[in-house]
Amino acid sequence: MNNRRIIQPRGKVLGGSSSINGLLYIRGQHEDYDHWRQLGNAGWAFADVLPYFRRAEDQARGADDLHGVGGPLAVSDVCEPHPLCEAFIGAVQRAGSPRNDDFNGKTQEGAGYFQLTTKNGRRWSTAMGYLRQARSRPNLMVISDAMAERILFSGRRAIGIRYRKDDTARTAYADGEIIVAGGAFNSPQLLQLSGLGSANLLREFGVEVVADMPGVGADLQDHLQIRMQYRCTEPITMNDVINHWRHRYGAGLRYIMSRKGLLTIGAGYAGAFLRTRPELATPDVQIHFLIFSADTAGAALHDFPGFMASVCQLRPESRGFVRIRSSDASIPPVIQPRYLTAHGDCDTVVEGMKLMRRIMNQPEMRHYIAEEFAPGDNCVSDADLLAFARETATTVYHPTSTCRMGSDPAAVVDERLRVRGVERLRVIDASIMPTLISGNTNAAAVMIGEKGSDMVLQDAAAAARVAISA
Ligand SMILES: Cc1cc2nc3c(=O)[nH]c(=O)nc-3n(C[C@H](O)[C@H](O)[C@H](O)COP(=O)(O)OP(=O)(O)OC[C@H]3O[C@@H](n4cnc5c(N)ncnc54)[C@H](O)[C@@H]3O)c2cc1C
Repeated sequence: MNNRRIIQPRGKVLGGSSSINGLLYIRGQHEDYDHWRQLGNAGWAFADVLPYFRRAEDQARGADDLHGVGGPLAVSDVCEPHPLCEAFIGAVQRAGSPRNDDFNGKTQEGAGYFQLTTKNGRRWSTAMGYLRQARSRPNLMVISDAMAERILFSGRRAIGIRYRKDDTARTAYADGEIIVAGGAFNSPQLLQLSGLGSANLLREFGVEVVADMPGVGADLQDHLQIRMQYRCTEPITMNDVINHWRHRYGAGLRYIMSRKGLLTIGAGYAGAFLRTRPELATPDVQIHFLIFSADTAGAALHDFPGFMASVCQLRPESRGFVRIRSSDASIPPVIQPRYLTAHGDCDTVVEGMKLMRRIMNQPEMRHYIAEEFAPGDNCVSDADLLAFARETATTVYHPTSTCRMGSDPAAVVDERLRVRGVERLRVIDASIMPTLISGNTNAAAVMIGEKGSDMVLQDAAAAARVAISA
């Protein structure tokens, strides 16, 4: 990646990254979970996890075999079709893939509009969906603005944590289990700070080794996106709304009055899941189609009509790592995703960009494209396209697998999410995914939380039964 530093934001807030994410509700492919099962993780095939997706969901379209209603996580449609999105969907169809009105339905393949984790035009984070309704429970205490620094052990049994609040170190002890849910960067960091990790790494920073576990922080996987940008022939993009005060205020007013319009959209308006090679069984790339353009994520929108579409390889083979670089918990860990280090990833990214060009060359899209200004006409060969990816690609913010579930020696948690080799400690978050799923990761992280909570309750009930019979 040409030695670039790539921003890796996380939601340091109640609700975690679901409070800052792009809202897209995508579960991944059924085959992702069947693959987890195939890797030896009993209880994690698609048929096993589907009830948890359904239990979590409050689907605005209603319930069916694959979708649930009444759950804590609100899922709804983006309110209005947009001519550019319609053109994109039409172009994908003409290029040979179907229209798909439910990426979380029977098959993922095709183009359509994304559903969002929103309700009445408002973000529906896990803090809104889960925590808010649990806040008044007498057995729940939330301590915010606090940083967990160490898990405390008695031998190999986790007994408490040390945390810092208001510059004061405090401890909390557990009668039952301790559950780590710091996400794919912070969960491995906390385990390493607590003596669970590669013994060599821990000794380098003076951390006492509880268990030599080189798998902690290994296997970092993430989605990389390559943004292709277009100057639009008509002033119908978000750039045109944001850059003109009258349109901007109109959009703001509309949102305030009706919770509708452009201010309700997420990190993608429409999108597609496609196969770069016909011989593949399922899609290997995702396209996020956005009706605005900007030089980088978070930068000001261009002062001309523009839109962009990004290519994201769904199942990268490149593996990175997260490693502490200090025994001080306030020092962020090293995050090294090692994007595009596997040859197969480079090939897929290049094929994905060529596929995007084929789609944008269909009459539906040609009508709206004055110019592809990034990567642009000078970027022609496969080598050019790969060079563009290395120079400009960024994360889609989907890190996983740094406390990977599995039964092999490098796995960090077992199929019940218990940290291997120690007692009374689980990890329940996106870091346990054995492999990155084929899509945006929030829905799967919530499913892991639902399933993990059942396991905690089941194991506590089983332990109580054993205690009574003894
Ligand atoms: C900018 C962005 C956009 C995204 N867009 C989408 C999207 O559109 N759709 C989608 O499906 N996914 C998206 N994602 C990814 C998705 O939100 C995450 O995969 C998901 O939230 C991960 O959940 P998690 O529980 O594993 O970790 P997180 O949600 O990151 O939660 C970790 C929590 O632990 C806390 N924490 C960490 N360390 C400590 C510590 N030492 N002490 C105390 N607290 C700690 C953090 O403050 C945070 O609250 C996006 C993510 C980002 C950052």
